[in-house]
Amino acid sequence: MAASLFAALRGIDTIQVGPVGTLPFASGLLDFIGVHPVRTGRWHPNPWEAIAQLRQDESDHPYAVMTTREMRTAWKQMLAFLTDSGLPYVAHPERNMRMINPVGTVKLTYAVPRSMMAADEALRRRPPCLLVDFAGLKGFSARQIAARLKLHWPALRTTRLPIPALEGELQPERLARFLERRDHCRELAKAIKSRLAGAQAVGLPAVVGLHRAGPHFDLIQRRLGVPLFEIPTLLPSVPGRRLLDTFSRQLPRLGVRTWYQYAVKQAQIRADGALHFRIGSAADGFWVQSRAAILATGRFLGRGLHAERTAIRENLFDLPVHQPDKRGQWHHKDLLHPDGHAINRAGLMVDARFRPVDKDGAPRHPRLFAAGSILAHQDWVRQKCGSGLAITSAYAAVAACAQIPRGLEGTHAP
Ligand SMILES: Cc1cc2nc3c(=O)[nH]c(=O)nc-3n(C[C@H](O)[C@H](O)[C@H](O)COP(=O)(O)OP(=O)(O)OC[C@H]3O[C@@H](n4cnc5c(N)ncnc54)[C@H](O)[C@@H]3O)c2cc1C
Repeated sequence: MAASLFAALRGIDTIQVGPVGTLPFASGLLDFIGVHPVRTGRWHPNPWEAIAQLRQDESDHPYAVMTTREMRTAWKQMLAFLTDSGLPYVAHPERNMRMINPVGTVKLTYAVPRSMMAADEALRRRPPCLLVDFAGLKGFSARQIAARLKLHWPALRTTRLPIPALEGELQPERLARFLERRDHCRELAKAIKSRLAGAQAVGLPAVVGLHRAGPHFDLIQRRLGVPLFEIPTLLPSVPGRRLLDTFSRQLPRLGVRTWYQYAVKQAQIRADGALHFRIGSAADGFWVQSRAAILATGRFLGRGLHAERTAIRENLFDLPVHQPDKRGQWHHKDLLHPDGHAINRAGLMVDARFRPVDKDGAPRHPRLFAAGSILAHQDWVRQKCGSGLAITSAYAAVAACAQIPRGLEGTHAP
């Protein structure tokens, strides 16, 4: 999504192919880097300091391959796009924010939906605060969150609200659709207000609307008269859906041809160097020839990589994958080893222009680039850098792609 956006902003004729994958699972928080080094789990309130340190310690990390200027521009364009598209995001340029996880732990992140912003301030000041949850809502318990946070935040209280209009199992998305209606939001604000009892902030699960989240969130906050914040839920995640909906709606308007319902089934580098892709099945698929390609197929969850009996392979081009020599070295014996597991740093090695390279460092193809979690030498879960890595590497890959001369475009039947 990020690569398509940056390509469209540069006026590059772009096709985005692929099922939407893991975005609906994501929390909606855009991490940049919160932890370095992984071994000590050190938190960094300032992400730029963490990156400076990371570049010294891990010169192969993708963040060490791109420039600070590229990173800043990538964030600027991404946040402007989201805000202009009606999904405002907030970031403090020089510092990470604190955010509450669905299970009540706290993490550092960089950019958050505006509806979560007040959590950062609340976590710092720890005022009397009411955490709300809903009877029957799966995977979110205000009491569980308060139990974890109360030691350092004694003024936390919780309350559980019934939603009589919604019977049966209540998933976050269903509740979010229910709260798409203003009268439902007004009722919710009234119910919370009656239980405020001096609370100076209110937190609730991220379920206030799906498509019209902003105005409805503002309505509830106005009626409460105190800062309100959403807390990410477990899967499926409404903030992840909001991101997905925003990209899916806006990218075609920017000229990107989005073929989400298809997958690339075959990729070929022909003898003359042309890149060809079969989109869809052999029976009803078609071929696309493109001037350049950005491979952003993710790791194992996204299906960019595949773990076979003895080796990890890249699924589309069979590109060389950086990985431990033997399967026995993929994981530590200790599941929670502070170093993490070597398999979580497997992926594609790239050159300074984000082109996948062979073991000797030569690019496999002059116009084939890679971005996102498929890149080697990073452990985005432990380093808390998932979205930041995806966004900044997409920017860097598109910037490199934009430098290649024109020609060879076109779509044609096999
Ligand atoms: C449960 C969960 C929670 C997360 N929480 C956070 C968080 O709190 N903060 C944060 O910053 N990040 C978070 N992330 C991570 C963030 O979403 C990652 O940065 C992102 O998933 C990495 O993006 P990616 O595009 O590189 O890979 P992926 O998201 O894995 O996407 C790869 C895409 O490629 C597609 N694809 C694969 N093969 C093909 C093919 N042959 N043809 C066409 N398409 C193909 C897949 O369908 C998929 O859509 C979370 C991710 C998950 C899964």
